[in-house]
Amino acid sequence: MTISAAQAQLTGTDPDADGFWAAVVGGALQLRRCTRCGTCFVLPLPSCPECAGDPELVLSEGRGSLYTWVVVHHAFDEELARQVPYVVGAVELDEGARIFARVEGIDPAALEADVRVRATYPADPDRPPIVFVPEESASA
Ligand SMILES: [Zn+2]
Repeated sequence: MTISAAQAQLTGTDPDADGFWAAVVGGALQLRRCTRCGTCFVLPLPSCPECAGDPELVLSEGRGSLYTWVVVHHAFDEELARQVPYVVGAVELDEGARIFARVEGIDPAALEADVRVRATYPADPDRPPIVFVPEESASA
């Protein structure tokens, strides 16, 4: 049985990380939303980075806009070196949190800030666990 890259991240030893990756396995991104000011963030911080309020767990719709990106042409990791060039983007989710992940389905030379993207969760163990694609794209 093959397991996805997201399933491989489940260690059973880190409730914060395991909760995030379990959501990815289920096809969603888990965020923390401040119960006081509503700020959303991805990192498993014990309190809101804006107001120190208590966070609650929420699921993102997985849609957002490309905030910035890099095109990787040289990778030190052997497996990643076989995948160059590839794009890693900072995606500003509609909930307001930013997440870094692979961006595919757009020619790197044609990338623009604010392009609409949505999260996909490849089941292939050799693919990144979270890949953002153009919002209108039908494929992962
Ligand atoms: Zn807050």
